[in-house]
Amino acid sequence: MRWDHLAGTPAASPASAAPADIALFGTDAVTTRTFDTPEFRGVTFHEVRARSIVNRVPGASRMPFEWTVNPYRGCTHACVYCFARRTHSYLDLDTGIGFDSQIVVKVNAPELLRAQLASPRWQGAHIAMGTNVDCYQRAEGRYRLMPGILEALRDHANPFSILTKGTLILRDLDLIRQAADVTEVGVSVSVGFTDHELWRTVEPGTPAPERRLDVVRTLAGHGIGCGVLMAPVIPFLGDRPEQLRATVRAIAEAGATSVTPLVLHLRPGAREWFMSWLGRHHPGLVGRYERMYAAGAYAPTWYQRRITRQVHEFADEFGIGPGRREASRSQQRSHRGTPLPDHHAQAPRPDPGPVQLTLL
Ligand code: SF4
Repeated sequence: MRWDHLAGTPAASPASAAPADIALFGTDAVTTRTFDTPEFRGVTFHEVRARSIVNRVPGASRMPFEWTVNPYRGCTHACVYCFARRTHSYLDLDTGIGFDSQIVVKVNAPELLRAQLASPRWQGAHIAMGTNVDCYQRAEGRYRLMPGILEALRDHANPFSILTKGTLILRDLDLIRQAADVTEVGVSVSVGFTDHELWRTVEPGTPAPERRLDVVRTLAGHGIGCGVLMAPVIPFLGDRPEQLRATVRAIAEAGATSVTPLVLHLRPGAREWFMSWLGRHHPGLVGRYERMYAAGAYAPTWYQRRITRQVHEFADEFGIGPGRREASRSQQRSHRGTPLPDHHAQAPRPDPGPVQLTLL
C-alpha cells in the first residue's frame, strides 16, 4: 500500500481524483483495525492522520462547488457502479471488493477542518461533502467524525452541503439544524430507484430506498428541506416508465424539495466492476451496455434527455413541479452548490446535455 508517495497537494473529487490528494499521510500514521461485529465483518479500517482535509476540485468552474471534505476513502455501501472506485488504485488498493472493504479513516478530519476554517486565508467558501465517498457510511457509526466536522462548520458559520445514502445522518440532526441557523446548509439524499431486487444486488451495503426516503421525511418534518438526487437511473434495469414513476412518486410523498435525475455513467474503475456484475446477473444485457456506452463513460445524450423529461413529467404529476425545482435551484446557486451532483461525486460532462453533472 502506498501511503506517502506524494506531497499533500489538495485535490479531491473523483472526477479529478488525481493521485495528488490520496496519499496524504505518512506510513507511520497508519493503524489497521478490524472489528468482529456483524456489520464490520470482513472490513479492514486503515486509520490515518491526514495532512489536509479540505480539497479543491480542479476544474471547479464546471462544478457546483469548489471545495470538498471527505473523511473516508472506500465505502462499505458497495454500490457496484460507484465511480470513486478508481481512487483506491492510487493507494495500491483493489478497486473492486477492496473499495468496499478496505476503508481509510482520516481520524483527525475534525481537527484539521477546524484549523483550516480558522485560517486567515480561508474565505468561507461552500464545502461539499459526500462527493467522493459517503460520509455517513457504516464506519461513521463507529468513528463519529461528522459531529466534529459539523460543529466546526457551525462554529465558523461556513456554508456546506451533504449528499448521502446513509440514514445515520439523522443522528446529527440537531447539529445540522444548529448549522442551518447560522449558515446555508443543503442536504440531499440519493435514491435512484425503489425496486428492491435491483437495490439488493446493485447497492448491497446501503439502507433500503424507503429508509433513505424516511430520512427525507424526517428532515422535512424538522424544517430542513431535502432534495433527492435520483441517481443513478440504470439503463434497461431501472428505467421503465413505471419504475421511474414509482420512484418519483415515493420521493414526492417523502416531501422532497426537488428531484434531479442522473443516468448511470461508467468511468474506468467503475466500468470494469459494473460490467463484471452485469455479466453475472444480467448476461443478456452486456451487449446492449457495450453499445450504449461505446462512446465513453456517458449514455447518449438522447437517452439522458428522455430520462430527464420523463422524470420531470412525473415530478410535475406528483407535485415536485418546475416551479419548485427552479426555486430549489436558485437557492442552491445562491450558496454555491448543493449536492445536486454525485453521491458521491461529480464530474464534468464531455458534452453539453440535459444533466450537467454526474453522480457516483
Ligand atoms: S456511490 Fe456513494 S454510497 Fe455508493 S459506494 Fe460510492 S460513495 Fe458509497
